[in-house]
Amino acid sequence: MLGSSPQLSAAVVALLDDGIWVLDPASGTILDTNAAAAEQVGTVPHLLVGRTLGELLTPPMSVAEWITVVRTVDHLGAHTIAMSLVGPDGAVTPAEVTVTRHRTDDADVIVARSTDASERLWLHAASRAERDRLESTVASLGEAVAVADRSGRICTVNDLFCQMVGLPAERILDRSVFDPPWTALDTDGTPLPTESTPAVLSLRQHQAVRDVDMAVDRPVDGGTRSERRWIRATAVPRSGPGGLDGTVLTLTDLTETRRTEQYLQRLATSDALTGLATRPRIGEIVATAVELGGGTRVGVLHVDIDNFRTVNDTFGPTTGDRVLAEVATRLRDLEERRLDLGRIGVDEFLVVLVGDGPSLTFDARLRRLGEEVQRRLERPLELDGLELHLTASVGIARTPDDGTDGTTLLRAAERALSAGRHAGRHQLRFYDASLDERTREGIELDRDLRLAVAQRKLEVHYQPIIDLHTGAVAAAEALVRWTHPERGPISPANFIPAAEATGSIAAIGDLVLNTVAEDLAGWNAVSLFPHGARVAVNISTSEFEHRGFVDRLAATLDRSDVSPSQIELEITETLLMEDLTTSALRLEALDELGFLVALDDFGTGYSSLSYLHTLPLHTLKIDRRFVGDLRDGRSSTITRAILSLARNLGIVAVAEGVETEEQRRFLTDAGCDQVQGFLIAPPLPKAAFERFLAERRPLVQLPEPAAGAALAPQADFHLA
Ligand code: C2E
Ligand code: MG
Ligand code: MG
Repeated sequence: MLGSSPQLSAAVVALLDDGIWVLDPASGTILDTNAAAAEQVGTVPHLLVGRTLGELLTPPMSVAEWITVVRTVDHLGAHTIAMSLVGPDGAVTPAEVTVTRHRTDDADVIVARSTDASERLWLHAASRAERDRLESTVASLGEAVAVADRSGRICTVNDLFCQMVGLPAERILDRSVFDPPWTALDTDGTPLPTESTPAVLSLRQHQAVRDVDMAVDRPVDGGTRSERRWIRATAVPRSGPGGLDGTVLTLTDLTETRRTEQYLQRLATSDALTGLATRPRIGEIVATAVELGGGTRVGVLHVDIDNFRTVNDTFGPTTGDRVLAEVATRLRDLEERRLDLGRIGVDEFLVVLVGDGPSLTFDARLRRLGEEVQRRLERPLELDGLELHLTASVGIARTPDDGTDGTTLLRAAERALSAGRHAGRHQLRFYDASLDERTREGIELDRDLRLAVAQRKLEVHYQPIIDLHTGAVAAAEALVRWTHPERGPISPANFIPAAEATGSIAAIGDLVLNTVAEDLAGWNAVSLFPHGARVAVNISTSEFEHRGFVDRLAATLDRSDVSPSQIELEITETLLMEDLTTSALRLEALDELGFLVALDDFGTGYSSLSYLHTLPLHTLKIDRRFVGDLRDGRSSTITRAILSLARNLGIVAVAEGVETEEQRRFLTDAGCDQVQGFLIAPPLPKAAFERFLAERRPLVQLPEPAAGAALAPQADFHLA
């Protein structure tokens, strides 16, 4: 019927997977079908003959509609229609039906070829009802959704999607995700290759591609402008019974979120109290300005309110905050001149000037600006009837002299400020490279010191302390000595504070104490050290405050043949006063272990004397400033007072820095117990001190020297 050999044609048709229908053009009556066609409507071919195609569809197709179909076929040659075939049990099979007309000499028939679309087309060939349902679901979603079939053709979009890409539905529908009507951009704004878009990836890889951040330039104002929207895209493939059906693309608009983030970020970069840029932000500004390079000069003013702490302590933090806000307002008035401002510490601000021109002129501008900052901030400030007078200090650094990157420049300004601090309030200083020179020197010195400690190159000298009544050696103060390989002897008054700052002090303390314990043990063995005498060891604040201090001390002595009562620990008054409670506890622990404690440099602190009797003190050392100044009425009065206080408390009084016979006589008359100073002996190396000890043995009465005869520090102390 369909080919030259009817038998062959019938066989081929019977084998086809597609349904073949032979229909009457006038009525749509079924003249013949193959097995596949019958199967699509759940029956066998012979039961279909005589019925119409229209009655096998849902909704049914009328004869009038059928005639329209035939006319279309006649017009186009072929026509493909989506139909829903319905079986006797009501099961619907979506089908794609291609209709053609065959005219031969003996026949004029319509041949329809139907393919089961349920197996491969999820959307396109689905029934209208199904599509409507999908569309209404998509439309009602709160997100922007587009659905593409497995070929990538966009078959459904909702309004939100259209809004998001800024295109009407007509311009989106039927376009392919492989060639979309919008341009997808990467988050950095570069076009995203189509193969990398989520919709295409999901179709190619048959898997969900989630949360891809991207952007689109959305046409606005009728396409005259475009506006970038930040979106997050997710594409989830849909599968039907026959495999992949298509993909559902969902877009979330991140633009607002991103704007909020940027806003929050701006908030984080400006200080809440003053509204000025925060430290990181102003740092960035400086760095960026410095990077401009060329003839651009960047000057930074590090501004500090000198007396702010007092304001805070006296009037409370609320007033303090208001003062800072006012300071910021006064600085902001400068902003008109295109300055950048930042708050970089509680009461520290940064003013950044970017300019050009020769360095002398620029320096002059910076200085004038600094002076103006000071003038503004030092104007009386009124708050609730309170009149405050602040002063401000400024440290200035500029490119390229003081740094060629932001960090260095800021550090230089800070260094300039802190260098000025020593000089007092209302300072204005430019950075000076020699400041760093000193830091570098300090670092080198500390390195050398650590090395010296490790190699045990530090020495301990002993300065005798003599009993004024008997002339006997009552004690010796251990004083550390360091001879730098290049710089020669360096005073402990210089390197001890540095070592405290860097932490090397612990090692120094250990070294001194070990040396003392060793030396003492040696002298004990030969009975060189006088019975009942002590070696005084200086303990610095950080050592004393260290938790393990007392234990370490005890352990050191345990190892040697030395009794704790032979060791006196010299601590300073300032140290004691910093935390009296803790210090008292620690002193008691030392006392219990049998150590003696001396209060060094007494009279230099600001403490009241009332606490003295509560502490287990063995010795009070009168600071050598008083001793050196005994001719002055005030100093002699203080010295007498300290001596009588010590006597009353039963504490041994030692006068430091006794250099003259006159001083010694005064001290003897005033009831001082013991003296230390160049008059007796300077700090002596171990061997010299041993000789000193040997010569002093057996104990001799100190002879009355001739009046006014002051012995030179290096004098021969051999007293017969
Ligand atoms: P200090 O504890 O007050 O030590 C007494 C200082 O006065 C010593 O200075 C000593 O050499 C000096 N001196 C002694 N007699 C006289 C005198 O008649 N006239 C004058 N003008 N000065 C005299 P030195 O050795 O330079 O030590 C300075 C400071 O360094 C010491 O003051 C002490 O605080 C600290 N120090 C020394 N050795 C050590 C140590 O081993 N550890 C710790 N933590 N500090 C130490
Ligand atoms: Mg001392
Ligand atoms: Mg002292």
